[in-house]
Amino acid sequence: MSVNQQAHTGPPYGQPQPGYQGYQQPAYGGQSLPGVPRSQYGAYNGPMPEYQQPVPPQGSLRAPPTSGAPPPASGASHPSGHLAYSQFEHGDVQNGIPASAAPMQRPPASQPFLPGSGSTPVSQPSAFQQYGPPPASVQQLSNHMAGMTIGTATASAPPPAGLGYGPPTSVPPVSGSFSPPGSGLYTPYSATQGPPPTSVPQGLPVAQPPFPGQTVSTQRLPTQVPGFAPPPPSTGVGPSSYPPTTGAPRPPAMPGPPLPGQTLAGPPSSQPNHVTSPPPPSALAGLHPGPPMSGLHGPPPPTHPPQPGYQMQQNGSFGQVRGPQPNYGGAYPGTPNYGSPPGPPPPPKRLDPDSIPSPQLNELPPQQKPRHRIDPDAIPSPIQVIEDDRSNRGSEPFVTGARGQVPPLVTTNFLVKDQGNASPRYIRCTSYNIPCTSDMAKQSQVPLAAVIKPLATLPPEETLPYLVDHGESGPVRCNRCKAYMCPFMQFIEGGRRFQCCFCSCVTEVPPHYFQHLDHTGKRVDFYDRPELSLGSYEFLATVDYCKNNKFPSPPAFIFMIDVSYNAVKSGLVRLICEELKSLLDYLPREGNMEESAIRVGFVTYNKVLHFYNVKSSLAQPQMMVVSDVADMFVPLLDGFLVNVNESRTVITSLLDQIPEMFADTRETETVFAPVIQAGLEALKAAECAGKLFIFHTSLPIAEAPGKLKNRDDRKLINTDKEKTLFQPQTSFYNNLAKDCVAQGCCVDLFLFPNQYLDVATLGVVPYQTGGSIYKYAYFQLETDQDRFLNDLRRDVQKEVGFDAVMRVRTSTGIRATDFFGAFYMSNTTDVEMAGLDCDKTITVEFKHDDKLSEDSGALLQCALLYTSCAGQRRLRIHNLSLNCCTQLADLYRNCETDTLINYLAKYAYRGVLSSPVKTVRDALINQCAQILACYRKNCASPSSAGQLILPECMKLLPVYLNCVLKSDVLQPGPEVTTDDRAYIRQLVTSMDVAETNVFFYPRLLPLTKADVDSDSLPAAIRNSEERLSKGDIYLLENGLNIFVWVGVSVQQGLIQNLFGVSSFGQISNTLSALPVLENPFSKKVRSIVDMLQGQRSRYMKLIIVKQEDKLEMLFKHFLVEDKSLSGGASYVDFLCHMHKEIRQLLS
Ligand SMILES: [Zn+2]
Repeated sequence: MSVNQQAHTGPPYGQPQPGYQGYQQPAYGGQSLPGVPRSQYGAYNGPMPEYQQPVPPQGSLRAPPTSGAPPPASGASHPSGHLAYSQFEHGDVQNGIPASAAPMQRPPASQPFLPGSGSTPVSQPSAFQQYGPPPASVQQLSNHMAGMTIGTATASAPPPAGLGYGPPTSVPPVSGSFSPPGSGLYTPYSATQGPPPTSVPQGLPVAQPPFPGQTVSTQRLPTQVPGFAPPPPSTGVGPSSYPPTTGAPRPPAMPGPPLPGQTLAGPPSSQPNHVTSPPPPSALAGLHPGPPMSGLHGPPPPTHPPQPGYQMQQNGSFGQVRGPQPNYGGAYPGTPNYGSPPGPPPPPKRLDPDSIPSPQLNELPPQQKPRHRIDPDAIPSPIQVIEDDRSNRGSEPFVTGARGQVPPLVTTNFLVKDQGNASPRYIRCTSYNIPCTSDMAKQSQVPLAAVIKPLATLPPEETLPYLVDHGESGPVRCNRCKAYMCPFMQFIEGGRRFQCCFCSCVTEVPPHYFQHLDHTGKRVDFYDRPELSLGSYEFLATVDYCKNNKFPSPPAFIFMIDVSYNAVKSGLVRLICEELKSLLDYLPREGNMEESAIRVGFVTYNKVLHFYNVKSSLAQPQMMVVSDVADMFVPLLDGFLVNVNESRTVITSLLDQIPEMFADTRETETVFAPVIQAGLEALKAAECAGKLFIFHTSLPIAEAPGKLKNRDDRKLINTDKEKTLFQPQTSFYNNLAKDCVAQGCCVDLFLFPNQYLDVATLGVVPYQTGGSIYKYAYFQLETDQDRFLNDLRRDVQKEVGFDAVMRVRTSTGIRATDFFGAFYMSNTTDVEMAGLDCDKTITVEFKHDDKLSEDSGALLQCALLYTSCAGQRRLRIHNLSLNCCTQLADLYRNCETDTLINYLAKYAYRGVLSSPVKTVRDALINQCAQILACYRKNCASPSSAGQLILPECMKLLPVYLNCVLKSDVLQPGPEVTTDDRAYIRQLVTSMDVAETNVFFYPRLLPLTKADVDSDSLPAAIRNSEERLSKGDIYLLENGLNIFVWVGVSVQQGLIQNLFGVSSFGQISNTLSALPVLENPFSKKVRSIVDMLQGQRSRYMKLIIVKQEDKLEMLFKHFLVEDKSLSGGASYVDFLCHMHKEIRQLLS
């Protein structure tokens, strides 16, 4: 290899642009002809009047909903050649770039989606029900049954129309058969704004469950008396007040027997949510004894009995679903699950739990009164809630037709059918029924937020968003607010105009887009156009949406490898180079393109940077060294960014040589900012967006811009200066990030620290450019390479968009006010991301700016403008309609606690940047207490102050909130480093709801209960030490780690089968993977581990923990229902504390 030190010369590249092959959209039904030379940009200048008659789709992935769609029904009304429409005022386009005077035209042909068609999509028909009556899902029904009614709105609700998504009463049944568009058959779609009038859709269960948050029965929060009394035998006692006896049939004495026919699952339950029966008044004072722990935790340390070993649980069962949890609407033995499988339609009658007598303390046998501790089985169980949702909602697809439907939990496997609203995989909300007024919202303190994952990966059974091409005129948009055409736009005047569902402005329908309306006012091509009938779809963007009015080039990936002493010595450099040789064959490609359009480049660095020329015509790669890091530039024009296949020989040679070249390096110092600058300059010169993959090992202390000093200081913890640990130590990186975003330069950072390297500062650029950070502390080849390589492979291959701008529009009355995630904002509305991958999530908060109405509901439209991996400019649109309410009970009935926690965690994790951690924690507790107090005051029926009453949908709020409060960011244990906290803080900020759910409340599985003959997982158990048996082996995962915990008394045979050693003492706790052994137990456990790894966006680190070994402390940190070493409260204690806070608010 030739090396030349190059001076600061060299104009930016004049590298030829590789054409715009990206626009062929192969996978999307567009004509992609493999082997056909890519058309150059110029080819698109041809006339394109006939866009409505595109080539029939070929790809199956995104075939239009209409298979073999014929030409538009109203072909005559598609005047060809109508090009410019005045309403496209791009100058004001939020997501676009001001229109150029001479917009480029694009080829008609590539348009995959065929407007107008005679044949109707098979899948559409059912869709129709969206406008029908309540898809009373089974589960919902049962929920209702278990709940109570407040308010009268639903009182007149007719009996739910059967199960599932049965035909609407007011609409012709739609079973499978579907009449062609234009038939006018579908009357229900009413004129005003699309969706059904909502609010009180007669008993639309989904949207408006007839019952207020089913107040779950109350568990007792009895006085806490030191000492522990075993649960009394509970025969003949109302289940709602006693711990279950395993397997015991439902007590006959249950008051308020379920109505005939009703699928009531819970016992009198009905009150399952009242968490308690009131303790005797005299006992109330003693309810929260003990000094508040740092003012936050109420009761004294849990009075858990000493646990000699891990004795069996009271109910003696491990692994299986523990006995029914009274009062949680959980299934009692012998009681059918809520409604699943679908049973007979329940009677139209609802229960008012408050009207059902529940056993009060004074009704109980005297000997049972004294309760010495709260029975953990008597407080809301995450496991039970998750199991119930799975059994109730896992079997039916979630059809998104109706407004304001609360989706199944993220822990439930379900299929989604898009019938007009975005899938919950793209958007989840804290509530699907939002208060009409700002006052109501403030009163409840329930944050209104949406967690949006615009490029989420869908399971193979679901359809990717269709790509719609409107030719050179681009997407049809509202004249005023620029909202994109969507199912909620209302066509008027025979279809010549449409009224915007967001701002009410009336806009002309462009001639090429005109279509007749049927007698219900719906366009006859409704089902043929994704943008009229689906919640999510994409538009091909025109040149007006491109930077500098120029279509983008395909993006580039630049691999930048630290070759300082530590990196070389650990074997990391060699590992990366070896891996890249094969990984480069798996760069993201679009649809069925034969090869990726992404170009690659390589840089190595320590105190200086080395650029490599890997032009295909070279026999050997050439190195160019830039030692003047103060003013970074790219020393070579041609040959830096190349096509992998063309330059394969040279690249392979380079990757072979790099480890050798630096094998004897003595250089320990590194630079960091100049590395990013170099990548940025290279992308600028190539006039493309792209991603930098930086592999870095140490604090950049070498003399250079962005040089850092070690400022770690754990003494700052719990002081007012603690926030500085989360802040970058210089603003240099913020400015650099801004430049990167402007260029579409996304940074993914792989860190391999052996000591503090200031993640808070190094993470600024990855964070603000939409990139990712991976951290492998004390990296060791043997134990960490699998994890690193799996992460790298996934990171390189995953779907990603570049140069992205996201805007969320809302209907009048609310607006997006705050945003959380990895991005940059230069104004108050546009979320800019140099890169956005399929795992990245943005949480958006909404506030009222006016009144909302129950009739029109509220709408969200998320528009993401981005460049695909093939260089195609696109707009991805997600729409979601929500209900609005004038009754607080409706709000509480339609909340999603997992989403709420996602928002609250992100809110708190941002708060630590500017406020003392204690302030942040107190604010969280206060807000949640207010949320629950408001419910108690306004929605629950009067009851003793000694009762803790939780809304059904929020009964896990206390336990989950406690997990957030105890997390490393808000309450670090002694083993948590400053870098760990900064890392976790940034990581959580981009997490989706499923990730935050398992991160804060890990999944704990008893492996020894696994059925080796089935594919299923053993039933999860609650995260508490008292649930562990020393004779069993457990797995705990939280999205970042997998622990395998082995009890001291595990049978020798099991140990032999799983670890291949003959005794507990011989198990090595340094294993990073389970040995591959040929026996059913080993296979089963390894398949579980593999399955879990496949579900998470990062490869989890496997840690073997032996009971009573020192690593067990680390493991116990994740048993989040227990008191933590760092002072975090146990679940029981925290629940008592919340109760106290609520009572103070109410008094
Ligand atoms: Zn508008």
